[in-house]
Amino acid sequence: MRKKIVAGNWKMNKNLAETGELIAAMKRNFENALEADIIIAPTFTNLYYAFEECKDLKVKVAAQNMHQEEQGAYTGEVSADMLKSIGVETVILGHSERRAHFGETDALLAKKVNTALAHHMTVIFCFGEELKDRKNKEHFSLVKHQLKNGLFHIKDEDWDNVILAYEPVWAIGTGETASPEQAQEMHAFIRKTISEAYSTKISDNVSILYGGSVKPNNAKEIFAKPDVDGGLIGGASLDAKSFVTIANAIS
Ligand code: PEP
Repeated sequence: MRKKIVAGNWKMNKNLAETGELIAAMKRNFENALEADIIIAPTFTNLYYAFEECKDLKVKVAAQNMHQEEQGAYTGEVSADMLKSIGVETVILGHSERRAHFGETDALLAKKVNTALAHHMTVIFCFGEELKDRKNKEHFSLVKHQLKNGLFHIKDEDWDNVILAYEPVWAIGTGETASPEQAQEMHAFIRKTISEAYSTKISDNVSILYGGSVKPNNAKEIFAKPDVDGGLIGGASLDAKSFVTIANAIS
């Protein structure tokens, strides 16, 4: 079902003590009943702690990545089963930093998606164009390509466990945001692309988050757009007040 969602990607920030402080500060700030579902994605070492701390809150905990294989000789990697065994049922896949710094391709992401879905996890699937693609007016075709190659092999019923995050790479961590109109235009295009490949029932039901320098001062305008169902927040999710203000910008 289509939901309003605000998710915080903490990336490689916050040690255990800092994770505790940030969650405690979030708890203090969550005074109002929130319209949105809230997800936080701390780093692997703090997931279990965060899960335990957030149990009594309306906050889900997600991993930032996951390996595609079930188990075995993959030094340094973390499996779906390991995540599920500590209560983590949501995973971010395809973040542009994973694509750029760790060579994650659409083909690899398709495998990761399959593994996560086979474990009944929810996938937050990230994708988005680089600045050169937008300058060359190739942003729509690039996004379509990423969706087709990373995600469009899934079955109709799998869409219940997928959240999309459109994140133009040029807007991530740069302070430069897509305008609300640019976000709406792309989100409408994404919905149309899904309805063509699957059905309007599926495209109407999927939550599409926008990510890329969402801050307390621009969240309301972006979230007000009809095809924007919330945000994936990087930098601003590391500050409890900013994150809660952004979460409250959902109406
Ligand atoms: C992100 O990393 O997913 C992100 C959107 O980062 P930022 O909000 O800092 O641009």
